[in-house]
Amino acid sequence: MSERDPQTKPQEPHAASATRTAAEQAGCAACSGGALARQDIKTAFWEGERLIVVDDIPALVCQNCGEQYYEDQTAMQLDLMRGAGFSADKATRTMTVPVFTFTATGSGHTAERKDGQD
Ligand SMILES: [Zn+2]
Repeated sequence: MSERDPQTKPQEPHAASATRTAAEQAGCAACSGGALARQDIKTAFWEGERLIVVDDIPALVCQNCGEQYYEDQTAMQLDLMRGAGFSADKATRTMTVPVFTFTATGSGHTAERKDGQD
């Protein structure tokens, strides 16, 4: 007698119970093991000459050293947003930031001599 496969049900992935990701369980990689907590963070980066701020990003933040981690889906979404070019009319709001110009301290240059290897 040849056995036929009964109708095997595909195993359902544990979609509903995936509240804790692998990264979350592994803990922080930067300080080896710090507890990660879900937090909405903001980040800023230069896009050409424009400074772009994205806020309310869901991230995992190390409660020990502050290192921030994005989940794959979040990182992908950020890439998509970058790809879309951040057109100004889609911005939630505009913020003004203070800009400072770096000025070297004028009183002699004894402090930071890069060539001083006597
Ligand atoms: Zn850490």
